[in-house]
Amino acid sequence: CGVFGIYLKDGDNTSTEAARITFYGLYALQHRGQESAGIAVSNGQEIILHKAMGLVSEVFSPDVIAKLAGHIAIGHVRYSTTGESHLSNAQPLVFRYLKGMVALGHNGNLVNTTELRTRLATLGSVFQTTTDTEVIANLIARYSQNPLKDALVKAMIDIKGAYSVVLATEDRLVGFRDPMGIRPLCLGELEGNYVLASESCALDTVGAKFIRDIEPGEIVIIDSNGLSSHKALYSTRRAHCIFEYIYFARPDSTIDGTNVNRARRAMGRQLARENRVEADIVISVPDSGTSAALGYSKESGIPFEEGLMKNRYIGRTFIQPTQKMRDTGVRLKLNPVVETVRGKRVILVDDSIVRGTTSKKIVSMLKGAGAKEVHVAVASPPTICPCYYGIDTSRREELIAAKMNVEAIREFIGADSLHYISVEGMFEAIENSRESMCAACFNGEYPIPVDD
Ligand code: 5GP
Ligand code: SF4
Ligand code: MG
Repeated sequence: CGVFGIYLKDGDNTSTEAARITFYGLYALQHRGQESAGIAVSNGQEIILHKAMGLVSEVFSPDVIAKLAGHIAIGHVRYSTTGESHLSNAQPLVFRYLKGMVALGHNGNLVNTTELRTRLATLGSVFQTTTDTEVIANLIARYSQNPLKDALVKAMIDIKGAYSVVLATEDRLVGFRDPMGIRPLCLGELEGNYVLASESCALDTVGAKFIRDIEPGEIVIIDSNGLSSHKALYSTRRAHCIFEYIYFARPDSTIDGTNVNRARRAMGRQLARENRVEADIVISVPDSGTSAALGYSKESGIPFEEGLMKNRYIGRTFIQPTQKMRDTGVRLKLNPVVETVRGKRVILVDDSIVRGTTSKKIVSMLKGAGAKEVHVAVASPPTICPCYYGIDTSRREELIAAKMNVEAIREFIGADSLHYISVEGMFEAIENSRESMCAACFNGEYPIPVDD
């Protein structure tokens, strides 16, 4: 998911400026979720919400934005990992607590939802959705006899897992991040106004200046007095998701000190160093494989060509629910450039293989277009374990590399050869220290024990 928030300090509650900026912010975060989108604005008296299924551009029209006047806004784009794909699970969630209204948008996935839900239900809470986000909302409400900051600290002590949250009350904008900093969240400034966003590309898009990442375990509260920062939780371990760099985040974002494009290029170079393949051209599976393919090309000296064209106006195929739809999705999305690949020995670079469906389709498409050989090079190690922290890398049974060795996968996808970057090589390529990253889907070392 993607989250965004802004606090306009002039406090004009008749203006839709905050909602409009949030719209553009969400637009830049669309890659983080295409299932639903929502914006909640606070006008000092109450919170107004609009959310619906679909892309940001489908959910928000000028007429809708016109109804969202208020000086604080938060927004969310959803990518479903827990809870079904229903409007009731779309965010922001708006709820009432002792002191008024709260809107909340969450990126990440809790690992002790079941336990907390049971505890809360025993205490009388009722749940309207199937998301872990509602559990966070419930906890905040339950602790609301305390000042907001203390209620948040108490909720953060209870919840385990990944969370980057933006929250708005009638008069405050809040951001907080789990103690290991699994999902990204950063702070920016736009003409003296504070902005929160999942990724720095959203700050760039709205013309805001990047200030810093929200620290793991930190709460920032922005109100008419400015910004206050509170270190709520400490952890000796950081666990920034390495998959953000590999696939999820946008290349023009910088997360926790590492630029995504730079990391992907380095992974491509490393992949080429580890696997020497004779070929005529390097092509990528756009868009997520492109940065790595450019790195691969540079390191190997084999020219990069545009071998596949992508229709950018379709949501990510991965998100469509059934296997059948997924197969059709890939077809709709990518088309080979016959002139480029015909008669060539092709190195096809992609960021990851999850189920293997994408690679299988594309290899056969390239062969159909006349490619002489197709060598698949993957800029991440085999995905062998599921993610419990907010990325839909599937259940273990669906992960092709959890069931098959490299040779069997090669055969399944129909490639002439198949190469993955090594786990060591991946860590080399990412500048962040290995101890500060989560790479559980590749090495099985889960930074937070998984209860559910
Ligand atoms: P596969 O077809 O092997 O299941 O998926 C691999 C392809 O899906 C790759 O091209 C990769 O860019 C993309 N991908 C990897 N992880 C995710 C994810 O979590 N969500 C979405 N939407 N796509 C993903
Ligand atoms: Fe990211 Fe993989 Fe860790 Fe999930 S398991 S947080 S996808 S590195
Ligand atoms: Mg891809």
